Amino acid sequence: MKKFAVLGNPINHSKSPFIHKLFAKQFKIKNFYYEKIFVDVDKFEIKVNEFFLNYGNGINITLPFKTQAFNISNKLTERAKLSKTVNTLKKENGFLIGDNTDGIGLLEDLKNLNMINKNYKILIIGAGGAAQSIIPVLLSFGCFITITNRTLLRAINLYKIFESNKNIKILDSNKIDYNFDLIINATSASTNKENLILPESLLINKSTKCYDICYQKSGMTPFLKWCKSKDSMFLSDGIGMLVNQAAYSFLFWNGIFPDVKIVIKKLKSEC
Ligand code: NDP
Repeated sequence: MKKFAVLGNPINHSKSPFIHKLFAKQFKIKNFYYEKIFVDVDKFEIKVNEFFLNYGNGINITLPFKTQAFNISNKLTERAKLSKTVNTLKKENGFLIGDNTDGIGLLEDLKNLNMINKNYKILIIGAGGAAQSIIPVLLSFGCFITITNRTLLRAINLYKIFESNKNIKILDSNKIDYNFDLIINATSASTNKENLILPESLLINKSTKCYDICYQKSGMTPFLKWCKSKDSMFLSDGIGMLVNQAAYSFLFWNGIFPDVKIVIKKLKSEC
């Protein structure tokens, strides 16, 4: 039996069980279990230990536990070390090993969509956990990152984590006045059904690539609608990132990489 789970609070919205069961089907893995576990905010470590004691093989972690998962890991992959957050755990020889697949999941999707190149100037809107996970991967790929956030102090704190890299900077949202090759909305505004207040001075034209790491059941997210209204011809939501980050978790646990394209298609049509 293979037993996996995603731990979060809230957790009902998670598509991870659906995605991982489709991956398991591709490889005809029998007795594959993947469940959603709601965890009280002060019970994360207890739940993780309990899961592995009960012969669990791997855990995905979502809001708000990615930093706690980083802190309780005994060993970390390079990606997890750089982002200081963990979204995937496994236990090997008694060691809890943490990885972060969000950044590589996004990069893979952007590559598949032909929306990224080395040396791209990228604006990241948002300074939460997701931004923190994706920044080191984009920097390692060779891109130049500018961060902006509604709450400037949070953007400053995020910047401080990566400031030793000369290719990252921070901008006050009122001062954005130049073109970016790619704009990534890494805020939770669309997930929370809130308006995303975008800087007036942000320049978007038809060649600006626009990516929203959020996704919704049907239609475009408000951010993508806004980018389209500014004539951008390259628009994508975060479904491909979601499936790719799951695929890298699956690889981390099982040593095999699934076909993501069919799963993205299925997720778009069924969820
Ligand atoms: P956090 O709560 O850590 O951060 C949220 C960020 O969004 C903050 O920077 C916050 O700004 C900003 N924000 C929220 N509402 C607004 C608004 N109305 N206008 C402007 N900024 C706003 O969340 P995460 O970083 O963990 O996640 C962000 C989103 O990314 C979530 O919706 C999540 O579902 C999605 N996600 C998608 C993944 C995928 O695979 N596609 C993977 C991981 C996350 P402030 O600091 O001012 O509050």
